[in-house]
Amino acid sequence: MAIRGTVQGVGMRPFVFRVAGACRIRGRVRNDARGVTIEAFGAPADLDAFLARLEADKPPAARFDAVEVAPIPAEPAPDFRIVESEGTGASAELRVSIPADLATCPDCLRELADPANKRHRYPFTNCTNCGPRFTIARGVPYDRPLTTMAAFPLCPDCRREYETPTDRRFHAEPNACPVCGPHLTLLAPGGAPLADRDAALRQAGRALADGKILAVKGLGGFHLACDATSAEAVATLRARKHREEKPLAVMVPDLDAAEALAHLTDADRELLASVERPIVLARRREPSPLAAGIAPATPLVGLLLPYAPLHHLLLAEAGRPLVMTSANLSEEPIAYRNAEALERLGGICDLFLVHDREIETRCDDSVARVVAGRPLVMRRSRGYVPRAVPAPARFERPVLACGAHLKNTFCIGLGDAAWLGPHIGDLENLETTESFESAVARLERFLETRPALLAHDLHPQYLSTAYALRRAAELGIPAVGVQHHHAHVAAGMAEHGLEGPVLGLAWDGTGFGPDGSSWGGELLLAGYAGYERLATLRPLPLAGADTAVRQPWRVALAALDDAFDGAPPLEALPLFRGLPPAEVELVRRMIRGGFNSPLAHGAGRWFDAAGALVLGRARARHEGQVAMALEGAADPAERGAYPFRIDDGRAPWELDLRPAVRALVEDLLAGAPAPAVAARFHETLAAAAAALVRRAARERGGLPVVASGGCFQNARLAERLLGNLAPDFRVYLHGHIPPGDGGIALGQAVVAQAVSTQDPGQRPGGRRS
Ligand SMILES: [Zn+2]
Ligand SMILES: [Zn+2]
Repeated sequence: MAIRGTVQGVGMRPFVFRVAGACRIRGRVRNDARGVTIEAFGAPADLDAFLARLEADKPPAARFDAVEVAPIPAEPAPDFRIVESEGTGASAELRVSIPADLATCPDCLRELADPANKRHRYPFTNCTNCGPRFTIARGVPYDRPLTTMAAFPLCPDCRREYETPTDRRFHAEPNACPVCGPHLTLLAPGGAPLADRDAALRQAGRALADGKILAVKGLGGFHLACDATSAEAVATLRARKHREEKPLAVMVPDLDAAEALAHLTDADRELLASVERPIVLARRREPSPLAAGIAPATPLVGLLLPYAPLHHLLLAEAGRPLVMTSANLSEEPIAYRNAEALERLGGICDLFLVHDREIETRCDDSVARVVAGRPLVMRRSRGYVPRAVPAPARFERPVLACGAHLKNTFCIGLGDAAWLGPHIGDLENLETTESFESAVARLERFLETRPALLAHDLHPQYLSTAYALRRAAELGIPAVGVQHHHAHVAAGMAEHGLEGPVLGLAWDGTGFGPDGSSWGGELLLAGYAGYERLATLRPLPLAGADTAVRQPWRVALAALDDAFDGAPPLEALPLFRGLPPAEVELVRRMIRGGFNSPLAHGAGRWFDAAGALVLGRARARHEGQVAMALEGAADPAERGAYPFRIDDGRAPWELDLRPAVRALVEDLLAGAPAPAVAARFHETLAAAAAALVRRAARERGGLPVVASGGCFQNARLAERLLGNLAPDFRVYLHGHIPPGDGGIALGQAVVAQAVSTQDPGQRPGGRRS
């Protein structure tokens, strides 16, 4: 019996051993290249029961992708055994052997709370079902000597657990106890130790309750922690971190505590409690005990449950929900080493709660939300990385895809799977670029590979592009440029194992188009090897280019100017009443003269423009802020929509929203409430996307539909697109691969593979990526 999936490093073999005993099965279990292989001998009924229980009771972190059962010759096996892995050194085995980090399991939590247990209140408790994995691995195979736990020789008790097949800690590589394992220390900002072990924990809890700001070393890096109910503490944190408005994640002890802060569906609860433990975006309850500064200007709040024993203990000590946000200054990578944290965070934190288990690989918290009843991962990092993604077609040679510019992740394609690396961040400074390069090097080492093909975005100025070209030159291998939105659609296809072609809606803020303009409102007829641009959004000039992203009133002005033939009723709109007329006039001249006003097709820019108009918000502190506020404001019950046009007299067709802009302004002038107008705008965009798909399907056939790009993190847009296309189309939204630029590297990898193996003579019509 061969079980494939996430079955190594998750307590699978001891589990199989126990179930075999209970079912009177003899034979053996081992890890191998494909997962776990079991040779089982017993009575037919017992074998059936064995198989059923393996599936039904599997360890919480195990995932079965395939279970293959085949008869084997009978054998007089005396008992059931866990046998050593076969073929060590075979790189195929090593590839699957480093699991993602796992949230603390219920058994370990019970021990943590049990005064009679030797691990009572011990913050580094773990077992084969839980604990750090990827973040402590230094190399392969995933074995204690090649983790940062190598520094802690096992005490006799822990060694016995580690070596006993029936024990929950059998081959739990980070196994530790208070006698032999890591310990906490509380440090002053200068690095002077103030307390250690349990005293450090208690003092840290008191400091948090007193409104202090702490750096807390977690699994994949440091968090900045403070009392989430204290307006003062939150304001201090923001001021010191220079993070003025981006939402801060809040950690709560359990689902009940989460429920007290946000409206949760069953799917939200399941996602919050999953072993991956992402930050989950949910609608905040009002009035809220949380400080208003946690997530200004959005009705959502990012909640997460504790995933390490330290978090459980700290929350209990502090006795309140805690802000737990990545410890970095603005856009730098998350701090993950003690000395580095003291140096970089000295100006932010009052105290440092550190420990002596080193973090080898930084890994930010993942972020997810429920869209259309299912989890959608927006930032895929801790808990998901380095889980393999099955490849739609075998990679004929190792591919390294370097991702995009913002929210960068990279991807390595090898054999029949692809691995996305951890969230790197925006590749805009030296620290992030170094973090990118070292993360690439490390994953190459873990996979024991080196690329034979590079994939990159078409944008010539992206640092990821420069890296790809440099690396390709160094290694003397080809590099394939992949169009941004083609990569988005291909990522969606790969996630769902689609062969293509598909109708791919790729809606986002921006991506480099081969014509030099910025794309982002695209409908592509796409396969892996190529695509055809069927339709796009009528472009808007972005006055001041990137400045327009931070000042969406400029985009709104461009949309109004276009819709009202240069004579929009600006004076009547609250948005423009608050702006200096001279500045408005200047920007208007830029737009009309085409001065520093590149054309952009991005749907994200339309959400910015509508958000600015409807909510009267001229400026965004970060990209997408106003668009997200517009989604948050939309009345869930409102189903009205504005008119739009599809100009199909050209190629690609153009989605023209000028009629919608005129109707929206009419609504605003008539005093329609913002929630209704925000909802109507969403309904319009969803209806327009669906209309494009239906029209394309009439000409090209009823193909599967893939919706990708950052706009499809917008739950209202995604859900209403489904509503508009059901039941006539199969529509694929993203799940565990981010629809935004964090998922793009996967698409680049599969496109590069397809392009590089395709015979140019055989390529179907349409553009090569
Ligand atoms: Zn455990
Ligand atoms: Zn021990």
